Amino acid sequence: MITLPNISAMRKWRVGRAAVGFVPTMGALHEGHLALMRSARAKNQSLVISIFVNPTQFGPKEDLVHYPRDLEGDLEKAASAAVDAVFVPSVEEMYPAGAQGAVMPGPLAEGLCGPFRPGHFAGVVTVVAKLFNIVQPNRAYFGEKDFQQLRVIEQMVVDLDFPVEIVRCPTVREVDGLAMSSRNRYLSPEDRQKAAAIYRVISGAAAATQSGERDARAMARTARLALAPIFDRIDYVSVVDPVTLQEIERIEGEARIAIAAWLGTTRLIDNGPLKVGGPK
Ligand code: AMP
Repeated sequence: MITLPNISAMRKWRVGRAAVGFVPTMGALHEGHLALMRSARAKNQSLVISIFVNPTQFGPKEDLVHYPRDLEGDLEKAASAAVDAVFVPSVEEMYPAGAQGAVMPGPLAEGLCGPFRPGHFAGVVTVVAKLFNIVQPNRAYFGEKDFQQLRVIEQMVVDLDFPVEIVRCPTVREVDGLAMSSRNRYLSPEDRQKAAAIYRVISGAAAATQSGERDARAMARTARLALAPIFDRIDYVSVVDPVTLQEIERIEGEARIAIAAWLGTTRLIDNGPLKVGGPK
């Protein structure tokens, strides 16, 4: 495995390679990231990941400075997933002084996390567009854990004609159902236990759909009531169309329940599918 510290090294590595799989990350790697890498490994001749804590997707009051960083541990984990190359650019190289261009996401970025994290998705699509231009992958792998991010990136690739196949990967969870996240390490032991309630509520909503519940608003209300006593703050509980991410009134075919809630200073997000007539 080779570490590529800058754009020119990355471009040189890319030359002459066919079927390049790419997993962009912000590091502090966990099993969720590694699952993306294993999927990519199985389908592509070459596998490159990036580790870059992208400042433009953090708001001024967010946790950029405290975002977990562990390059040495990350390189070991990447090597264990048979990654060929790790692109680790500096902030100065990705955003040299005077940089001002950006990619604008559309309405997909406006709901769910959008109002709570102004500018976040513009930062995400801008850095992903830059990474795609630098790495030029054939396939790029993203987790359903960040479902809105995934949809925004899928749309960007269509809108801007990137020749990249976006591959969706299922959310990897802890034994109690908590979605793995680099931020989980900041939860106190007590909050860590509470955090599993999000998945219980998502599973409950999926089961309710199976039992015939079709009223999306009622389902969101019930879920919010279940979470309210446990969490310090709830940003949203929404039942949305899985393509447009618009809130829906009736659950028909497929929908998605999405949740963002706080324990102390840690913001947790998660989501899950609601399927009418699907498996229990
Ligand atoms: P991040 O490092 O948090 O920016 O995440 C990098 C990629 O890993 C994104 O595509 C995430 O959606 C994905 N990811 C993060 N956590 C998980 C998880 N628990 N299961 C599946 N994918 C994940």
